[in-house]
Amino acid sequence: MDRTRVARAEAMITAPPRWERADGHITISSAVSDRAPLWFSVQEEFSDLLSDRADHVLISLLMPAMKEGRDLHIGGTVTDALLHNANTDLQALLRMENPEFHAIRVTADSVAAPTPRALGVATGFSGGVDSFSTLVEYFWSVDAPRSLRVTHLLNNNVGAHGHSEAATALWRARRAPLERIAVEIGLPFVAVDSNLDEHYPRIGFVESVTMRNAAVPHLLGAGIGHLHFASSLPFSHVHVTGTGDISLLDTMLVPMLSTAGVTITSANSGQTRVQKTLSLIDVPEARHLDVCIDGDPTRTRNCSACPKCMRTMLTLEVGGYLEKFCPDTFSYDRYSRRRNDFVAEVLTSDDPFHQEIREYAAEVGWQWSTADRVRAVRTALKQRILRAARAIAGLPVLRPLRRVLGRLRR
Ligand SMILES: [Zn+2]
Repeated sequence: MDRTRVARAEAMITAPPRWERADGHITISSAVSDRAPLWFSVQEEFSDLLSDRADHVLISLLMPAMKEGRDLHIGGTVTDALLHNANTDLQALLRMENPEFHAIRVTADSVAAPTPRALGVATGFSGGVDSFSTLVEYFWSVDAPRSLRVTHLLNNNVGAHGHSEAATALWRARRAPLERIAVEIGLPFVAVDSNLDEHYPRIGFVESVTMRNAAVPHLLGAGIGHLHFASSLPFSHVHVTGTGDISLLDTMLVPMLSTAGVTITSANSGQTRVQKTLSLIDVPEARHLDVCIDGDPTRTRNCSACPKCMRTMLTLEVGGYLEKFCPDTFSYDRYSRRRNDFVAEVLTSDDPFHQEIREYAAEVGWQWSTADRVRAVRTALKQRILRAARAIAGLPVLRPLRRVLGRLRR
C-alpha cells in the first residue's frame, strides 16, 4: 500500500442523514464531501421502517473510500459493532478480494450500542430462482422459524441497471410485475430507490453487489431486524480469489455487515442451483419465475433461449417437470431450437452450474441420447482445435507473419 498517498488523500466526510417528504415518498440523504449527496427513497407508507442511524451510509461508502484510499468519516450515529468491523476484519476481507484497495480509517460523529432488533424480516425479491427458493424455506414452509419468517419483500435500485434515467425506467418496468406477484404472495413490497451507483464510478456492480444490498436493511432498521440475503452460490464455491468477485464471499461478509439490531444471513447457501430450482416444483406462485438475462426492456416473460433460461429449463427437463412450466413460464418451442447445442455445451463445459446438472442427471438415471453424446464429442473436439489454434497463433515466432497478414487486411 502507498501509505504516503493515503495519508495525504483527503478524507471522505458525510453529513448526518436528512429526511425529506415529497410526492408520496420519503428520501433520506447524506451530503458527501466533494461529490453528490447519497440518497435512498421509499414509499411514504414505509416511513416507519426507516432507521435514524447512519449505518447504511457507512456500508454504502466503505468500498468507494477504500478504492480511493480516503479515510471515511460518517456524520450521525453509527452502531459500535459495525464501526469496529469496518476498521478490522470486514476491511481485511475486502482487501484480500480487491488487492488494489487501501487500508483506511473509518470514524463517526457518534457511536452507540445496537438498537433492539425489530421484528420485520425481509428478503430481496427479483422473481428469480434464488428469491423464490428463499421464500420456499422462510415463508411457505411450515417449518420456517417464526423469528425468521419473511414479512417484507425488498426490491432495490442500487445499480444493477446503472444510474441513468433509462436505468431507473428499466428498474420501474421490471418492478411492476413483481409488485403484482407480491400482492398474490400476500407480502408488502418495499421498493427502495437510490443514487448509490453514482458513488461507485470505479467499482462494478458484480464486484460490490453484496455491500450495495446490505446497506438497505440497515436503512430500514427501525422495522426490519433481519435480511435473508438470497445467496447465488453454494458453500462449495466460497473462497477468496483476489479477482473482486464479491458473491464468492457472501457467507463470510454478511456476518460482518450485521449488528445485534440488524442481522443478515446468506440464505440457502447449503443448496445447489439444481436443488433450489427443484424446490419450486410444487409452488403455484413459481409460475411467475423470471430467470431471464435477456436485456430487452420490452421483454415481459422469459426468453427461453438465454443461458439462464436454458439452464433452468434443462434442469426441469431432466427432472421431468418442464411441462409444468410450459407455456406459462417458458416457451418449449423456443427452448427446443437451441436445446441440442446447449446440451452439448453442458456435457463438455467446466462451468460448476453445468456440472451440477450432469451430476443431477446421473443421480436420477437420466440417459443422454446418442445424438446428444455425439454432439458433445464434436463440441469438445472443436473447442480443443480452437484452443490449439489460438495457442499457435500466439507464438512469438509467428509475429512477423501476423504483421504481414495484418497489413494485407488493411
Ligand atoms: Zn432468457
